[in-house]
Amino acid sequence: MEFLLTLRRRGISDAAVLRAMDEVPRERFVDADMVGNAYVDQALPIACGQTISQPYVVAYMTEQLGLRPQDRVLEVGTGSGYQAAVLSRLAQQVVSIERYRTLADKAKERLAALGYDNVDVIVGDGLEGAPDRAPFDRIIVTAAGSTVPQALVDQLTEGGVMVLPLGSPNGPQQIVRLTKGEGGTLERHDLIAVRFVPLLPGKAREL
Ligand code: SAH
Repeated sequence: MEFLLTLRRRGISDAAVLRAMDEVPRERFVDADMVGNAYVDQALPIACGQTISQPYVVAYMTEQLGLRPQDRVLEVGTGSGYQAAVLSRLAQQVVSIERYRTLADKAKERLAALGYDNVDVIVGDGLEGAPDRAPFDRIIVTAAGSTVPQALVDQLTEGGVMVLPLGSPNGPQQIVRLTKGEGGTLERHDLIAVRFVPLLPGKAREL
């Protein structure tokens, strides 16, 4: 299949990640008028002025998380729910936070329709994480901020991994992988250049 071939050619090699990308139907996470482009390797617009990420970036960040079947994962930025769906195939439990209720409700509906019942979508401010559900073995942020949210570091287990885009809203951003060591130290690896919508504080006022 062309979709998987493109991911492989771009360097995604983890068999479990490729299987998850193959299994999750991206056309179910895009708007009706975008279905024709569901398997093109590009980000697409969704409601509330947001985007569903490019498949390559979804696969890349997922691969960088190094998920194990027993992992509890936190995602900040549910959007369409597509990244959460991919995570749900590779981990035990996924908690995903979205600041727009409209997007969260739609994502919930899609995930339920596909039977991906190990994902909980929450409406809230992802900058605060989900303290009542913490700690998490893996955290992924799918919107770009300029600094690492401390609440998320606090909610990561020792040995845990966080993957997030860091940079300025309209300028250069890169994917960063942080590994939390003993005593809370963070080991940082800077990875590929990306473009994400901004990570914004607070629940969205409009729907
Ligand atoms: N992972 C998504 C990509 C969504 S784009 C997918 O697979 O479709 C990023 C999303 O992050 C947007 O929906 C935006 O509303 C949300 N977001 C931005 N700042 C946030 C915050 N502080 N808390 C929760 N969600 C946030």
